[in-house]
Order: sequence, then structure tokens, then C-alpha cells
Amino acid sequence: MSYPWLTVLVLALVVGGWFAWRYFRLRSRVAALASDLRQDNLADVSAESPELRDLARSANALISGFRSRSAMLAGERDRLAAVFSQMADGVLIADDNGRIEMANPAARRLFDYPEPITHSVTEVVRNHQLVAAWRRCRETKALQSESVEIPGRRQFLQLIAVPDQHAGGSLLLVQDLTRVRRLETVRRDFVSNISHELRTPLASLRALTETLQDGAFLDPNTAPQFLGQMIKEVDALTQMAQELLDLSRIESGQVELAFARIAPCELLESAAARMKMQVERAGVSLQVACPSNLPDLSADGPRLEQVLVNLIHNAVKFSGLGGEVVLSAELEDPRASVAATPGARAMMRLSVKDTGIGIPADDLPRIFERFYQVDKARAGKGTGLGLSIARHIVEAHGGRIWAESTEGQGSTFFFTLPVSR
Ligand code: ADP
Repeated sequence: MSYPWLTVLVLALVVGGWFAWRYFRLRSRVAALASDLRQDNLADVSAESPELRDLARSANALISGFRSRSAMLAGERDRLAAVFSQMADGVLIADDNGRIEMANPAARRLFDYPEPITHSVTEVVRNHQLVAAWRRCRETKALQSESVEIPGRRQFLQLIAVPDQHAGGSLLLVQDLTRVRRLETVRRDFVSNISHELRTPLASLRALTETLQDGAFLDPNTAPQFLGQMIKEVDALTQMAQELLDLSRIESGQVELAFARIAPCELLESAAARMKMQVERAGVSLQVACPSNLPDLSADGPRLEQVLVNLIHNAVKFSGLGGEVVLSAELEDPRASVAATPGARAMMRLSVKDTGIGIPADDLPRIFERFYQVDKARAGKGTGLGLSIARHIVEAHGGRIWAESTEGQGSTFFFTLPVSR
């Protein structure tokens, strides 16, 4: 037994060295694994140590799961971005401080703000009612909605503000309701127009029936004339019914005119005859002053008669007992020959003049607007639509309509129409 301690020492060194070698090898393997994971690479599973192989396999399973989940999320995000960019409605996402983080093209267009990112909701939205709705949403943490008409742009917007319960921000959805509103208005106006237009033939029919009832029925001279007039009014009512059927065409702004050659004096006489009963009942005199040598008009007869009837109806209504109404026609500028300006169309000017209460100068430019009435009390049962219908019809003929008036002395309504070639 010589130097047993030496043997123990050598053994201890060998064993220690082996452990140290194992330890450093393990450390470098773990460091390599950590480095792989940091670089988002799959770990090497060929390690000789079963524990390291297990660890690498588990890490690889985690990485694969993470990769497939993030690929799924990226796909969803791309799909969402595609939906947002194609949406007709505007979408804005604001953070906790009200800074815009995301805006789709529709939102940029609707708010007319090309680069809204990082700008505040107040700057981008620029409407105090909509901004107030967004503020309410932030304060109450509850969904808020608001609809407004943007002045100047004639745009009708609806905003829905939805709170983000987790991040503290908010989602703003903006819908452009301008077209829907316009269609609603067109439909409503159309129904109002029709009921307004129904009044004249109905009033005439009532007046004719009452006169017949009062004894005219027994007068062989007037009875057939009244009955003929009644048939005309019934025809006018039938035309109204036809116009109701034309609803869809009028909604799309495509009312078609049936142009024909019409003698202007005949047109005035026909409108005057149609209004005769009402005019007489109101104690007003109605005259037609029309030179016989005028050329024909190119126009839609029934619609122009509608214009004249509207104007005469007003002239009578605003003149009252003892008033005088004169219908006339003349070439707009007799000195300007059509040949002098090739291509230019000669225009005829028709007018309805009354000796009524007149129209205040301030109101004169506005009387052709829809629903505009100078003074509800003096307009009686009017709806403020008659003149806007008249303007619509005259402008569709390529003419223009206007009024001249002196308060207390009377008014003259003029409109021009193209002369037939
Ligand atoms: P309404 O149904 O109210 O008569 P209109 O569109 O025909 O609607 O006319 C609009 C307004 O213009 C009327 O409310 C009236 O105040 C004024 N007006 C129209 N014609 C005359 C007229 N001949 N004399 C005086 N005021 C008129």
C-alpha cells in the first residue's frame, strides 16, 4: 500500500475534471439553446443529454405554437385592414388621450382630413356636436351616437362612438347619410307637391259643382260649358295620379318632358279658362293680352299650363276683391334676331301680372325656394311649393323664372321659354 492518498487524489481529479467538463459542456449547450430561442430559431434537438433534448423539444413546440398563432393573427389583421379600407363607413381609432391611431380611407374622405394619424379627434372631426358625443362616450364609457348636417358641405353624418373598455381609447364609426336623407326629402317633397297640385283641380271641381247645384244646371247655355270644364279638371286629376306612378323617375331626377309646338296665346287662354270659375268667385278680373303674330313655343303643354295655373292661383289669392290679373306673352328681345347669333335660341317671355299686396324686396329672391312662404298668415292655406314646382318645370324647359314686385302695388311673374325652330 504505497501512497493510497495519491490514488484518491488522482481519482478525485479525474472525477472532478469529468464533472467540470460535463458542466461547461452543459452550460455552452444551454447558452446555444438560449441564443437560438432569442433569434426565434428552432432549438437543436441532437444534444446527447436526454434532459437537454427534452428542453429543446419543449422550446420548439412553444416556438411552433407561437409562430402559427402570430401567423393567424397577422392574417386576421390583414383581413381586417382590407375590410376597413373597403368600407364605405369611416372608422377612426383614438387612444386614451384622444389621438388618432388608425383611420380608414372613408374616414379621411368624410372628414376631409388626409393625414389624421396622431392628430386629435377634435382637430379631425371639427364639429362640436360630434366631438361632444365622443366626449360623452369617454366620460360615461357607454356607446353614444349623434347625427348632424355639416353646414357648407351639405353633408349629413352620423357618428357612433364606442368605448374601448380595456385600453381606455375609443372607436368612432362615421356613416354618410346624405344620400339616404336626400332620397327621403325627395320622396316627402314629391308627396307634398302632389297634394298641393291636387288642390287646384279639386277647388275648381267644387266651385263648378256648387254653381251647377245653385241653378246653372238648368241653364242650357252654361251647363254644357261647366260640364266640359269639369271633365278637364278630372283629366288634370288623372294626370296627377299618373305623376304619382312616375315617383321613381322623379326621385332619380329624370322627369321627361313631352315637347311639342304650342301657340303661346292658346296656352294662356287655356290656363285662363281653367281658372275662370275661381277668378270670378274671388271677384278678380282676368285678361289675356297676347299678340296673335307670335311664333309657336317648343314646350310640354300640360306642364306649362300647370305653371300658369300656379301663378294665376297666387295672383288671385294675393289680390282679392277688385283685383286685376293680366296674362301676356312677347318675344324676349324683338330686336335680337336669331340669325344675328347663330345657334342661339329665341326665347318667349310670358308673364302673370297682378294688382295684389306685392312681395317685400327681401323675400323676392327666396320665393322660388321649396316651402318658402313670405308670411304664413297671409299665405292662407299655401304650402310654399307652387313656385318651386313652377321653377322646376320652367328650368327643365331651358327657361328661367323671376318676379318683380312693389309692396302694396302688385307683382309680375315672368318666365321664358324657347321658341320652336
Ligand atoms: P304658396 O302655396 O304659399 O302660395 P308659393 O310657392 O306659390 O306657395 O308662393 C310662395 C310665397 O310667395 C307665398 O307664400 C307668397 O307669400 C308669395 N307670393 C307668391 N305669389 C305672390 C303674389 N302674386 N303676390 C304676393 N305674394 C306672392
